[in-house]
Amino acid sequence: MDAGFFRAWVAEIAAVVETQRDHLTQLDSAIGDADHGINLARGFGAVQAALAQASTPTPGSVLMLTGSTLISKVGGASGPLYGTAFRQAGKALGDVPEVDLAALAGALEAALSGVQKLGAAREGDKTMVDALAPAASVLSKAVAEGASLADAALAEAADAGAQATIPMQALKGRASYLGPRSVGHEDPGAVSTALIMHALRDVAVRQAR
Ligand code: ADP
Ligand code: MG
Repeated sequence: MDAGFFRAWVAEIAAVVETQRDHLTQLDSAIGDADHGINLARGFGAVQAALAQASTPTPGSVLMLTGSTLISKVGGASGPLYGTAFRQAGKALGDVPEVDLAALAGALEAALSGVQKLGAAREGDKTMVDALAPAASVLSKAVAEGASLADAALAEAADAGAQATIPMQALKGRASYLGPRSVGHEDPGAVSTALIMHALRDVAVRQAR
């Protein structure tokens, strides 16, 4: 996977976040402040503009610029959290022109660590971690089993993780202010993480054709 693959992934995220903007914002209106879709659409729009301007010759540089742009352009909690995730993933990929699936799995684990270090959320706290952690572990398992990115069930794992947030009570982020009233709603950040994992898989499937 080269820089072009990672630019295609980010472009796919920008497109899907735009399509799902209202849905994400609706989810955030139930347990937050109704801006998650708006935040991500604005953020990834800015990322697309930044990538069009700058030279990003390596996978790591694509993800670093993506992360830095999200941090500077997104006001909500998700900006610094996703920004850190992409920056840590980019850092893990280093400055080589091509990376393999093992490196990508390592990058996803680094993204998860970055999010958890910054936000202090554990699995079960009803956050994006509940979708990211199972996706990262599925990808690491796929590497161990010699499976391909197109065949790895990381998107399904993230979907299941997002679904599993419905009965949870939020212990981190704005939704935690609702206490038990946060129960019964899917976490918007877990849903957007699942969209990001779908985008990754879709780009891999398209490329494998
Ligand atoms: P804000 O909550 O500031 O309005 P967003 O609406 O864009 O920001 O993002 C909300 C999402 O951010 C939540 O659904 C949750 O998944 C994620 N989130 C919030 N706080 C944390 C945290 N401490 N750790 C991990 N994810 C978090
Ligand atoms: Mg919000």
